[in-house]
Amino acid sequence: MENDRLVMPTVRDEDSETELSLRPKRLKDYIGQNKVKESLKIYICAALKRREALDHILLYGPPGLGKTTLAGIVAVEMGQNIRITSGPAIERPGDLASILTNLSHGDVLFIDEIHRLSRSVEEVLYPAMEDYALDLMIGKGPTARSMRLELPKFTLIGATTRAGLLSAPLRDRFGITFRLEMYEPKELAGIIKRSAGILGIKADDEGIMEISRRSRGTPRIANRMLKRVRDFAQVRADGIITKEVAHQGLDMLAVDELGLDRVDRTVLTTMIDKFAGGPVGLDTLAASTGEDATTIEDVYEPYLLQLGFIQRTPRGRMVTPACYQHFGLETPQKKQEEWQVQQMGLFDENL
Ligand code: ADP
Repeated sequence: MENDRLVMPTVRDEDSETELSLRPKRLKDYIGQNKVKESLKIYICAALKRREALDHILLYGPPGLGKTTLAGIVAVEMGQNIRITSGPAIERPGDLASILTNLSHGDVLFIDEIHRLSRSVEEVLYPAMEDYALDLMIGKGPTARSMRLELPKFTLIGATTRAGLLSAPLRDRFGITFRLEMYEPKELAGIIKRSAGILGIKADDEGIMEISRRSRGTPRIANRMLKRVRDFAQVRADGIITKEVAHQGLDMLAVDELGLDRVDRTVLTTMIDKFAGGPVGLDTLAASTGEDATTIEDVYEPYLLQLGFIQRTPRGRMVTPACYQHFGLETPQKKQEEWQVQQMGLFDENL
């Protein structure tokens, strides 16, 4: 069911044709994430001055926030080439060895979903990251010996949804770690405006703001919604995206004013109706909504947490009074009390 969703932050077929043209190439065109940009500027400038490769960088945060884009920008700003791959694509240690030996000095190697590397592949990565070396085993059994091959100095950029998914030894080998945050509506409006300019879409400021408010803090969703609303504007209006056109178009696509769709509503109402507002364990919630637990955790939940509609507690997820309110429901007395206890600091955000 998940792939039908307009509000999925992961890549869908419809994104591929424009994703490349909409990707900012330079840091100055990358909107938002100001803290990350400021630090990156300093690191890049220092590395360029020393004529060294940049330290390895770990980027984490929900899908669609611009991790791949940022990796491409780092390569351009460093004046180097980028090689893009992903954890699941590197099946055997030999696959990684061949990628590494084909890199040139200063290259950026981007590994998306780096948490999905197998243990044996990860072990090849450790000396490569630390000493720019590849340890090869030659022969088998008692006559086997290891040989060390020197690698060019490269920069690894790893991307993952949650830093906690990475094994500690891998995490420790990144010199720089950045967490990408969801974007503010104003920042998203800037991104939509830029995309509309590139794609030749006519939209006024209010129309853009309407799309940005429903884009779940995620540029990929914002760009996708922009294209869908453009279609609506061409067929039902005179081709210009105004507030009214954006509103009607997104209503027709069943995305509400906060960017929630049918699946979000199912997850939330299931928590309210079947589990009295929680706490409910992730697996139980997955089983009763027919969704995959990891997808709920990595894809739907970050936005619901950001909205303050759910809270993670040591006993599972619970909905908040703000969520009851969104559905026009009154928060039960018992929930109010539990919520107040949570607010006193007894919950752990990093569960
Ligand atoms: P991730 O790798 O985190 O899943 P991507 O880097 O693929 O996300 O970004 C998805 C799309 O969103 C890109 O095509 C790009 O056009 C757009 N995008 C992401 N971040 C920004 C940004 N800060 N400014 C402008 N566009 C962005």
